[in-house]
Amino acid sequence: METPVDRLHAVLEKLATAAKRAKRAPGDAALIAVSKTYAAEAVLPVLVAGQRHFGENRVQEAQAKWPQLKSAYPDVVLHLIGSLQSNKAADAVAQFDMIHTLDRTSLADALAKAMQAQGKSVPCFVQVNTGDESQKGGVALEGLPALLAYAQNLSLPVTGLMCIPPVGENPAPHFALLAKLAKRHGLKELSIGMSLDAETAVALGATYVRVGSAIFGARG
Ligand SMILES: *Cc1c(COP(=O)(O)O)cnc(C)c1O
Repeated sequence: METPVDRLHAVLEKLATAAKRAKRAPGDAALIAVSKTYAAEAVLPVLVAGQRHFGENRVQEAQAKWPQLKSAYPDVVLHLIGSLQSNKAADAVAQFDMIHTLDRTSLADALAKAMQAQGKSVPCFVQVNTGDESQKGGVALEGLPALLAYAQNLSLPVTGLMCIPPVGENPAPHFALLAKLAKRHGLKELSIGMSLDAETAVALGATYVRVGSAIFGARG
């Protein structure tokens, strides 16, 4: 039977092929293994196999799962990829190494305050709602310049943009738009691509792809 480690290697190979095809260096797009809903015992073999970037979408789940794994593997880089309530900003800053879901000024305030209080700088991505979906997180396209300016005023370390294209749509135009916006605003990082479209994302300039089910299997 295929294990998560087998699937990890298969995903890495596909990403390397996609990078090569796009004339990018193999390491240009880092793989974030999204371990949400999976217990520490499922994550451990993937860690042992050498994977170091992991993604979780909930602060509480990460707090329960990661402190022990991180003490065994201090070079783990933990990414928050789920929406964040301002009242959990301090916990998120304490637990995570990167935050992909900054999407409003009140959260920027809370994150800046938490980083200052903890003396910790956690690079942030601004999530953009490229599909203009009412149920989805992310700043509206027209609100992006103001949010970036606001974050800059707070000296928040914003390093890139993130998006989740609408289900069932071709993701490529969303990724291309996000790449264009990142370039326009002088941001280097692009968090795009999931299990189904990670290779497309690599072709369009991803610096991080977030892959869950293709590694760990379908979530229950
Ligand atoms: C769950 C999740 C992923 C991974 O999704 P898969 O389809 O399982 O690869 C990526 N990004 C975000 C924001 C997620 O919530």
